Amino acid sequence: MPDPPRTRIPWEAIVKVKPLDLSGQVYGLYTVLDEGPRNGCGKRQWLCRCECGVQKVVSHSHLRGGRIVSCGCHQRSQLATNNLIHGMERTCEYSTWGGMIQRCHNPRNNSYRHYGGRGIRVCPEWRASFPTFYAYMGRRPGPGYSIDRINVDGDYEPGNCRWATATVQARNKRPRIRRPAIATGGQLFLPFDPPGPSAR
Ligand SMILES: [Zn+2]
Repeated sequence: MPDPPRTRIPWEAIVKVKPLDLSGQVYGLYTVLDEGPRNGCGKRQWLCRCECGVQKVVSHSHLRGGRIVSCGCHQRSQLATNNLIHGMERTCEYSTWGGMIQRCHNPRNNSYRHYGGRGIRVCPEWRASFPTFYAYMGRRPGPGYSIDRINVDGDYEPGNCRWATATVQARNKRPRIRRPAIATGGQLFLPFDPPGPSAR
């Protein structure tokens, strides 16, 4: 029996025709308010509001590239970002940084109610600068690790964050057990000795 003729899928259905709408998205300290006027070369621009209240028109590619994250109020972090960000855009650490900001500062994000909606924030230094975040957290130790807050009601900030496996995170989320762990530079020190020969 011959195969039935294949139905042609219209290319319009495959290719995303609709231009990307960035309204409501959060990039560092910036929240995108609306589409702005095109620049002199006809490229798209967006009207953004910085955390400090300043509004600016920022080019689409700069926003998407993660190179502009504040109006200049965090100028030093901004310079560091520009110098260091190249080549880091596709790393898991970079997407962790972006995801954390979205969850906490973008009310349209699916997980916002569990984070920003509960008052969890990303400290301004980390929001304004991926390198500052990365310098503290370091590389993700391996697959299966994600960013974890030691105090689950605390912010994403130095002293409260570490890379942890899902198992460690689940243990940390168990209510009413207080087990203060101290994280330094992304490394985890548990306040008890790991099971060794003496524990047998
Ligand atoms: Zn600002």
